[in-house]
Amino acid sequence: MPDRAMPDWSDVPKWLLPRPTLEDREFWEGAGRGELRIQHCSSCGRYQHYARLLCSHCGKQTLAWVTASGEGTVYSFTVIRQNGVPPFDERVPFVVATVDLDEDGARLIAAMPALDPGEARIGMRVRAAFRRAGDEFGFVDFVAAG
Ligand SMILES: [Zn+2]
Repeated sequence: MPDRAMPDWSDVPKWLLPRPTLEDREFWEGAGRGELRIQHCSSCGRYQHYARLLCSHCGKQTLAWVTASGEGTVYSFTVIRQNGVPPFDERVPFVVATVDLDEDGARLIAAMPALDPGEARIGMRVRAAFRRAGDEFGFVDFVAAG
């Protein structure tokens, strides 16, 4: 396998910085601290991402923020091979995966910048990695586990 020249994903143009809402601010701040924050419902016991005012599984308001393990399994993925918009034009090809977290019910769509697209597999184990997004916030990426 050829060496994969890793583009610099630490460069975050201003227009890509998160603009948190009241609902999701905890997620972005948590990622800035290196924590994957998701919501847990005490009525049905399931988890969810993205943040909402109501549980997406049972409709109740009984939600609390918790820190997820950061571990999960790739449910599906795609390989981005073309993107004309900076800074993504310098990052292709890269993997974007839908990850089922180990916390039941929570699923994220995230980039996997360090993964060679040829190595991506449905069912592979992954864990969260964090990338700065300005002074306060962070992005959640995933890397292959183990
Ligand atoms: Zn619920």
